[in-house]
Amino acid sequence: MNAQEIRKAYFDFVTERGHVVIPRAKLVPQNDPTTLFTGSGMQPLLPYLLGAEHPAGVRLADSQTSFRAQDIDEIGDNRHTTFFEMLGNWSLGDYFKKEQLSWFFEFLTDVVGLDASKLYVTVFQGDTSNNIPKDEQSAEIWKQLFANKGIDAGYVEVGSEADGYNVGVPAGGRIFFYDASKNWWCRGGKIGDMPVGEPGGPDSEVFYEFDFIEHDTKYGPLCHPNCDCGRFMEIGNSVFMEYLRTENGFEKLPKQNVDFGGGLERIAAASLGNPDVFKISLLNPIIEKLENLSGKNYEANTVSMRVIADHLRAATFLAVDGVTPSNKEQGYVMRRLVRRAVRFAFDLGIEQNFLEGIVPVIADLYENDYPEIKAGRDEVIAILVKEEKAFRQTLRNGLKEFNKFSEIDGEALFKLYDTYGFPVELSTEEAFKRGTRLPDNWRQQFDAKLEEQRNRSRTAEKGAFKGGLGGDSLQHKKYHTATHLLQSALRQIFGSDLRQHGSNITEERLRFDFNLDHKMTDAEIARAEELVNGWIDQDLPVSYKLYPTEQALEMGAIGPFGERYGDEVKVYQMGEGDQLASLEICGGPHVDHTGQLAEGDKKFKIIKEEASSAGIRRIKAVLV
Ligand code: ATP
Ligand code: MG
Repeated sequence: MNAQEIRKAYFDFVTERGHVVIPRAKLVPQNDPTTLFTGSGMQPLLPYLLGAEHPAGVRLADSQTSFRAQDIDEIGDNRHTTFFEMLGNWSLGDYFKKEQLSWFFEFLTDVVGLDASKLYVTVFQGDTSNNIPKDEQSAEIWKQLFANKGIDAGYVEVGSEADGYNVGVPAGGRIFFYDASKNWWCRGGKIGDMPVGEPGGPDSEVFYEFDFIEHDTKYGPLCHPNCDCGRFMEIGNSVFMEYLRTENGFEKLPKQNVDFGGGLERIAAASLGNPDVFKISLLNPIIEKLENLSGKNYEANTVSMRVIADHLRAATFLAVDGVTPSNKEQGYVMRRLVRRAVRFAFDLGIEQNFLEGIVPVIADLYENDYPEIKAGRDEVIAILVKEEKAFRQTLRNGLKEFNKFSEIDGEALFKLYDTYGFPVELSTEEAFKRGTRLPDNWRQQFDAKLEEQRNRSRTAEKGAFKGGLGGDSLQHKKYHTATHLLQSALRQIFGSDLRQHGSNITEERLRFDFNLDHKMTDAEIARAEELVNGWIDQDLPVSYKLYPTEQALEMGAIGPFGERYGDEVKVYQMGEGDQLASLEICGGPHVDHTGQLAEGDKKFKIIKEEASSAGIRRIKAVLV
């Protein structure tokens, strides 16, 4: 079965078992300001897993297009792509472990036709410190399922991933018990950090073994299912939302849910018996087109071709879902994808505009199953081609500048990079082409300049808050913290397009400018005050961490409109989890907890709301 057939067979399979197949959610989450992209099938369904009623019922399924910017550095290996489809099915308080594990096993072996002897599974080992028992039930179900295929599946006690490298795969071992770090699901990830009232539960993963791949001991002495050497590939995970954290430890939930997610691309790769997901029917045609355009072959240019195929497939879906390349948030990630693809194409010697060659191949692969691709096809091609042109212009300008340098050293390379966005890999290659010798220490020179610039932008960041926001007296800090809360409140009321367009703080008040197309009504002002005072009452902790800029944006941290950042930024967070009130890129300083704003029995009050310039409103507010 090819990937398209597997997707279709899965829909038929779950439909026969009483599920309603729901449409995918877009890659840009709707009404969820905390994250930039939809990264799993569970994400859009979380409200229903937490108790809301779903209009389509209690058995749901879909193929969720997912995007994980955090996997970008893994692109080039054989099983991670930034964009992938996650086949999913859910039971909302309906069926549980028995049905779920049996169905997934049946689907893999009887429908897709995988050899059961190549499948290995993991199960939750239990957690003594939290008094949660081992998931014997899942283990027994698995044992029976394998027995039905004539396989005597042995149990293996592992523990953590690190323990796995010493345990390996003992003869007959097939059902592996891992601890909570591997086989426990909860929001936030760590069993010990779960707040009271939070649901969680054990999960059970299925791995496919490519037995011709020799274990690579750089990962650890022995191979085990969770080893990353590539011999075992995770193809699906069934999460059992079984427990609730209470004041006195863990209790069983009255209504237990199943959340299953399996990678379509990986199941298709297993069905081909080939560990390289880029060989499957949804990716290989893109690779073939690249071979054709470049006249080079995949075997000799594997990483470049994988990166291009992955990035352009992701960019195509992002464009269909309404993202356009820009310098912020989703648009910024998309710009990086396209530019990286163009740059890697450059490595392959494809210097002509190539997106108009590749994107139609991608559209062809998906348009039968995703009508929005068919409908958006021309527009998507236009958006991507435009970005490619703009980037090539940047590259050309950089090349012109190149000619002006009498000597190309690390400093010149930095100038090209900093001013013209000319990637340093291209500069060095260009120098090589021209027969210009770079000094041996060019890398150090370049890094030194980069570091200098980072320091400058850190100082500038601090300076901005000196200049724009005033000093760091306690009163300033309070108003600064109140400014973040105000921005969050306004975004909650008016939507996440609302941005800071200016801010100024004195000992007496805060002033905040933002985009909005109308004068705020009294009710809207009252609502904003109520939200801010609510967060002050909750006395939320305020903290910050440094993040690479991209990660900060990926987490959904916001910053002033039109701001440009260095490579690393400080992100201030107020509250956490369900009580996250604000996540902003900012230099600080702030108070330590929001309750400080109420010291002296003060309340947050908006004293003025007026026009500042076209489309920009200005609020003045005080703590009185
Ligand atoms: P891995 O450890 O391999 O990165 P994961 O633990 O991040 O996987 P989950 O979050 O459990 O994976 O996602 C469910 C399924 O989605 C996985 O079993 C896998 O089949 C698939 N999957 C996850 N990440 C990717 C990716 N980057 N590319 C392709 N498929 C993926
Ligand atoms: Mg992962």
